[in-house]
Amino acid sequence: MEKVTLNNGISMPLEGFGVFQITDSRECEEVTWGALKAGYRMIDTAAAYGNEEAVGRAIRKSGIPREEIFIVSKLWLQDYGYENAQNGLKVSLKKLGQEYVDLYLLHQPLGDTMGAWRALEDAYQEGRVRAIGVANFSPAQLTDFCESVTLRPAVDQVEIHPFFAQKIALDTMNEYGVQPQAWAPLAEGNFGIFSHPLLAEIGRRYGKSPAQVALRWNVQRGISVIPKTTHCRYVKQNLDIWNFQLTEEEMTQVDSLDMGHSEIVDFNNPAFIRKLHNWKIHS
Ligand code: NAP
Repeated sequence: MEKVTLNNGISMPLEGFGVFQITDSRECEEVTWGALKAGYRMIDTAAAYGNEEAVGRAIRKSGIPREEIFIVSKLWLQDYGYENAQNGLKVSLKKLGQEYVDLYLLHQPLGDTMGAWRALEDAYQEGRVRAIGVANFSPAQLTDFCESVTLRPAVDQVEIHPFFAQKIALDTMNEYGVQPQAWAPLAEGNFGIFSHPLLAEIGRRYGKSPAQVALRWNVQRGISVIPKTTHCRYVKQNLDIWNFQLTEEEMTQVDSLDMGHSEIVDFNNPAFIRKLHNWKIHS
């Protein structure tokens, strides 16, 4: 498993395991434990996923030394603003049963991001988070943010897969030393990705599935991936991407699938923004 060094000098595995939409607590604990057993050393959860407790239990049950696991969690929009963010992190740490998380992200680029960020900067100085970052920040938002804050985000976690390659976002992150992390690296199963003719044809040359080709295309460019699955065989399959290499031509062929926009989220749609603001995780 390759690692990447973030802009504050800490090391993060390039591949991790995502637990979005694994809402059943027992299932989340089982599948996260299975992922750790299979060799994943980074887990991506969030306050809004409602499964931080299950992730914490799986980590403890694994018996793997804490310092060998990279925990990512995220502050939900409802908890933005300085004091709320301080409390949000406290609750996340309590639910995870941890003294610190390795990476803590602002989940959405909305609301009082600056107040929340100052709380994250303080938590970073106090050692309760080893790195801080953002998610879903567009190139323009990330630029504005990086030009405004004292401590620049270590990571921007955004949707990246062969059908939405996010070229401008990647150029912007590169410019500001922000590590890209791909959510929905398997496009959440859309666009026929698991039987896509081009990905399947490339995969056949290496004895790999279309999913593995899609993941490889990201990590080969230094982009971190956090695929989610509840199936044991896919847990293993998605991790088995470190023993083959796509040629330059194959990388370019996969690049050609880019539609240039997301069909999963629409941050230009007022109804979507309202929906995020109305998504409450506590009373
Ligand atoms: P994803 O990982 O792109 O796709 C997950 C889907 O693919 C599931 O339906 C899963 O099915 C299926 N799958 C996984 N591996 C497979 C394989 N090898 N073959 C066939 N099917 C396979 O989507 P995601 O869960 O949305 O994204 C990954 C992670 O990113 C999340 O879990 C979360 O941690 C993070 N995320 C963050 C944000 C954000 O706003 N920051 C947003 C979305 C996601 P089964 O589960 O049935 O196996």
